[in-house]
Amino acid sequence: MNDFEAGRPVVLRGGTVLPMDERQGEGRRMLPRTDVLVIGDRIAAVGPGLAAPPDAVEIDASGGIVMPGMIDTHRHMWQTALRGYGADWTLTQYFVWFYLEHGKLFRPEDVHAGNTLAAIEALDAGVTTVVDWSHGLQTVDHADAAADALQSVPGRYVLAYGNLQQAPAEWTAAPEFRDFVRRRVTGDDLLGFQLAFDVLGDPAFPEKPAFEAARELGAAVTTHAGVWGATGDDGIKLMYEHGFMTPGTIYVHAASLSADSYHRIAATGGSISVSTESEQSAGQGYPPTWSIRAHGIPVSLSMDTSVWWSGDLFSAMRATLGADRSREHLEAHAKGDTVTHCGLRADQVVEWATRGGARALGRDDLGSLEPGKKADLVLIKNDLSPVSFPLLNPFGHVAFQAQRGDVHTVLVNGRVVKHEHRLLGIDLAAARREVEGTVEYLRSEMGEEAWEQGMNPDIPATKLLDNPYTYTDYRSDSTHRL
Ligand SMILES: [Zn+2]
Repeated sequence: MNDFEAGRPVVLRGGTVLPMDERQGEGRRMLPRTDVLVIGDRIAAVGPGLAAPPDAVEIDASGGIVMPGMIDTHRHMWQTALRGYGADWTLTQYFVWFYLEHGKLFRPEDVHAGNTLAAIEALDAGVTTVVDWSHGLQTVDHADAAADALQSVPGRYVLAYGNLQQAPAEWTAAPEFRDFVRRRVTGDDLLGFQLAFDVLGDPAFPEKPAFEAARELGAAVTTHAGVWGATGDDGIKLMYEHGFMTPGTIYVHAASLSADSYHRIAATGGSISVSTESEQSAGQGYPPTWSIRAHGIPVSLSMDTSVWWSGDLFSAMRATLGADRSREHLEAHAKGDTVTHCGLRADQVVEWATRGGARALGRDDLGSLEPGKKADLVLIKNDLSPVSFPLLNPFGHVAFQAQRGDVHTVLVNGRVVKHEHRLLGIDLAAARREVEGTVEYLRSEMGEEAWEQGMNPDIPATKLLDNPYTYTDYRSDSTHRL
């Protein structure tokens, strides 16, 4: 018997609830020993000792943390088929590999394979909404494959349509793209739609027709802005001057921008999707939260691509706290000062990973646990883990202690999709077969040498500095082995 058949109410009993509601700003709001009742696709009630309908399924949340499902606002899901391949890449190597050399090898079934695995992986990690920044859609068949994959997995996704093989003005004008929008963008609550393209700063503003298309289609634009050497202040200025900086716009990275660009983003109501791990490794610029906090720009978090990083937001929260604090200390030390109180707190990154994502997507009904909101939620609880107790500071626990293996239960739209650490109704073996097919295909198309070279970029020569001190005997002994 399926305990979690569709439509059956669910009550999570006795967890520490992080509601992430409007009162979050008043302090680190948490509700100990509290129940959450889900009826249909909504949260019906949050409180202690709730009465539940007789047919409700009970989930014991005691000792655990119940929080809103996490929201990732920028993930190139199609690239998940190459998990870990680019671990040692820079952004330049990424551009060469995907844009110039091998991105066009991906067939529709390869996009399907990557998207399916990425969608499953997100649910497993408690990421209930993902913006699929899908710039591998070189034909509409690729786009149909991407959408099919997202609709085959019971999470909430936003297909941000893009095509890195063509200029945005071109693909947004193509009749088959318009036909795709008519066929596939149907108002499905679990599959949103945006346009994804970058603004390169050409004074002729060739991206203008793509913005006009977005406006005509009523779709928000997401754009990599403030990427060192690729997109910068010129692009922001063009968008601003032509009236395309709108409240729904998501600026990804925003890591190499001037204060003037931050002022424009703040004034026009957009938000920034920060991919800290990406900015740290790939080189878009220093992860920007330290800078943008001073501008009051709304923030959401993202992980960018599994070609490098793990598809969960625990890592994103952890990396973001670390990068922000690291910068804060460094800036203070440069002035001879000492930071005695951290500016960025654990509860703030939990807010960015939940409510911040909902705000970026214009979804008031997501990102918090309140009656009437959509029931996208996560129970973090792992009784077998020595890291699960004591649970003293739940926000610190989520940001610095927890990981995907601690995700016990996940609900999306009121449906239980993971319970007792196991995904429900997901065919992982089929997803694995698809991805293996893609890897095999890419490897044989590229040839073994190019495949290996792509994964193992050359290491630049490093020169050991001259050392004015004389080696000790111990070191002298060891030098003959060098
Ligand atoms: Zn990206």
